Amino acid sequence: MSSSVRVPTAKAVLTGTPVVPGVVAAPVVRPGVRLQPTIDNVEIALDDRPAELDGFRAAAATVAQRLRDRSAHASGAAAEVLAVNAAMAEDRGWRTSVEKLIGSGSHAVSAAAAATEQFAAMFTKLGGLMAERVTDLHDVRDRVVAELLGAPEPGVPTPDVPSVLLADDLAPADTAGLDPSIVVGLATTLGGPTSHTAIIARQLGIPCVVAVPGLDNVDAGVFVLLDGTSGEVSVAPDPAVAAAAVEEYRVLAERSAGWAGPGATADGHAVDVLANVQDGAGARAAAETAAAGVGLFRTELCFLNRETEPSVEEQARIYGEVLAAYPDAKVVLRTLDAGSDKPLKFADHPDEANPALGVRGIRIAVGNPGLLDRQLDAIAAAVASEASTRKPWVMAPMISTPAEAAAFAAKVRSRDLVPGVMIEVPAAALLADRILAHVDFLSIGTNDLAQYTMAADRMSSDLAALTDPWQPAVLALVAQTAKAGAAANKPVGVCGEAAADPLLACVLVGLGITSLSAAASAVAAVGAKLASVTLADCRTAAAAVLETSDPNTAREVARRVLG
Ligand code: PEP
Ligand code: MG
Repeated sequence: MSSSVRVPTAKAVLTGTPVVPGVVAAPVVRPGVRLQPTIDNVEIALDDRPAELDGFRAAAATVAQRLRDRSAHASGAAAEVLAVNAAMAEDRGWRTSVEKLIGSGSHAVSAAAAATEQFAAMFTKLGGLMAERVTDLHDVRDRVVAELLGAPEPGVPTPDVPSVLLADDLAPADTAGLDPSIVVGLATTLGGPTSHTAIIARQLGIPCVVAVPGLDNVDAGVFVLLDGTSGEVSVAPDPAVAAAAVEEYRVLAERSAGWAGPGATADGHAVDVLANVQDGAGARAAAETAAAGVGLFRTELCFLNRETEPSVEEQARIYGEVLAAYPDAKVVLRTLDAGSDKPLKFADHPDEANPALGVRGIRIAVGNPGLLDRQLDAIAAAVASEASTRKPWVMAPMISTPAEAAAFAAKVRSRDLVPGVMIEVPAAALLADRILAHVDFLSIGTNDLAQYTMAADRMSSDLAALTDPWQPAVLALVAQTAKAGAAANKPVGVCGEAAADPLLACVLVGLGITSLSAAASAVAAVGAKLASVTLADCRTAAAAVLETSDPNTAREVARRVLG
């Protein structure tokens, strides 16, 4: 789907890498900087103290309300963190300390800083869970101080009107907390199309463009038109032209939203079209779409903010929510893919010069005895307590060798679950036939497969052309993996971002891929496109793509066959 409306009247049109389709027009917001409040000995006059006190109470109440509102709109871990921080802004002990200091002459900013330091010292001394709250306490202090000073909210803001968020980059945890009804578009200077910020934006359905040079010069409040399909951010466009572009996209989106599944080519070749999710809320939202099940549940995204490992019972509850959303359909859970750009505080791993090449994915299990077993126990417990009619499939990320696959499969089978592995490392694609001797299915993670095949960091905006999933070398490895699946008569899916591109999805089917899993927001466009082509067309396009030498030619030859 693409918007053909150009914006000739815009002040500037900045171009980046499109990652989440959609066209929106709204004013810009930016993450606020964190002011460093100082504790001073300035004493305010007795008469001024009541007003100072009122100012502090109002600021704390505003911050608490804002965080509560954000929590109500968020889901999973993000909702929890925001609710805890809202409660902290209203904590009686902390507020009383601040108020006492104001009563004895401190101004509100200094009093908030001093009381926070007292509490932080106390929490640190108590250790454990209390010590872990210190970061949240500082975050609340920074928000209250910004409110007192009339400065923008630090970190990711909660704008009063629907807005487009522009940032250098965002942490995955920040992105997970975004409210799509308020942050209607997202563009970053850094990042790549498969960075986890982009992935979460896709799951939230927020139109998003990454790797956009020149964003730094666009101030908060400036009206922009963001096209997540073309990758353009138009600065100060003609409002009428922008409104027409938004409307044109809405009509196009409505048309493909009419696709209701099940996934199949025009001549009836069945292909499961599934959703990638990150928690129960995401799975429930996916179940409202035509997605036939869950092809990738990124379990680690439930725990990005957690300091300590969640108990087996808590994990079982969280996984159970996803199973409950699809009681009779395919659900594929991925075990924790910690490390690299998704560090989990409770999964210990060494400081590394090259974390993407280091201890991540299944490799984390070695240095954290029991972590994988406890997660598998939790999945088995979730299955036992849910009335699912199908055994869920469970797969490991970042498998490099058949031996790793065999060890993982044994653990999964011993819990009466269906084992599979992700193919993300070229070595695993090359030995897919030998890996398939141990597992029941494969799922290709094209994001990492592109990163490792092309030796190009998926987070790097400079290398976005190399990590393009249309790279013929990446597709050659996909073809080899699919061929091994066909020979073993076992399913091979794709759950990387390649499956979210309708044209490429058809090529993947032509290569022999048996299921496609993408963000729920991309499912209808993928399903609708697939329904418009025959399997023979897909195969012709796939064969032509494998003959090319660069991604643009690959796209072009596929378009020639598939339209
Ligand atoms: C992938 O690498 O393509 C994948 C699906 O896993 P993630 O993006 O979470 O690394
Ligand atoms: Mg991956």
